[in-house]
Amino acid sequence: MKDNFIIWLLQNFSVLGIVVLSQIIFSRHSNAESTRIKPDVLEKYSGQHEEAFVADSKRVLELMKYVLERIGETLGFQGYQEGFNYPFTIRFTDGSAAPIPNVGAYTYFKSDQMGVMAQEMVLDLDVLTAYPQDFDREFIHELTHAVVHDDLGSKSRNLTPWFDEGVAIYVAGDGESWVEHALRRAHLKPEPVLTDLDGPQQSTRYPQYFLAIQALLEKVGQEGLKKIIQRIFEGRTPEEAIQDVSGLSWDAFQVQVHSYSLRKLNEMKTLILKAQESETKGL
Ligand SMILES: [Zn+2]
Repeated sequence: MKDNFIIWLLQNFSVLGIVVLSQIIFSRHSNAESTRIKPDVLEKYSGQHEEAFVADSKRVLELMKYVLERIGETLGFQGYQEGFNYPFTIRFTDGSAAPIPNVGAYTYFKSDQMGVMAQEMVLDLDVLTAYPQDFDREFIHELTHAVVHDDLGSKSRNLTPWFDEGVAIYVAGDGESWVEHALRRAHLKPEPVLTDLDGPQQSTRYPQYFLAIQALLEKVGQEGLKKIIQRIFEGRTPEEAIQDVSGLSWDAFQVQVHSYSLRKLNEMKTLILKAQESETKGL
């Protein structure tokens, strides 16, 4: 509806349309006068998991009360308790058309020629009811994407997958377990976990994306991460923004990520081996 209205405005009153759009696009820097839009958790659901739907939609509302503030504090965004810049809906389904199959949740944005206009989060109860213990983490991960994309607006296009995913995993707080799973899957060999950051987005690379964000935090700290996001908002790519804030070229940064990741994976391997050893002794 809102999209159509804006397109209609542009066609009929281009000057007024541009004023409306520029207020939306530049709202990051406007003050309390900007209008925030409350996320809309849809009450319509007609699948097989009615009980989970009732419980999970209640949980979504509870989590949003404090998670939005935490995301804002971590990444340097303001005002998300009051709402989003763009319309944002959360919808439950059975099965979904997620770009990566069998994910419990995904968020996408609908855009037109003028930029991002609305976002939707789809929560797939077929998957989420099979792994109920993962619900909070999955939701916080997706909510982080939604907030980042909402704040960056049309500049979200500059985000590269490793940065976008790494930040979401970092905020959701389950990065260590991604890394541990990957290391165990690789029979405790660090090398298979180490991947290229430039390659296509793949869930098997998520542990590396998270380790890259950790390496970045070790270098620039949380305030540095906020500055990098601010630079992306100003039109830089994450790689350019990292160079601006840390002074490291993209190649030099990747070398640091590699050595950081190798160090962390070896530390984790030692811990796992020690735990296995004491288990064996205990028997
Ligand atoms: Zn993600």
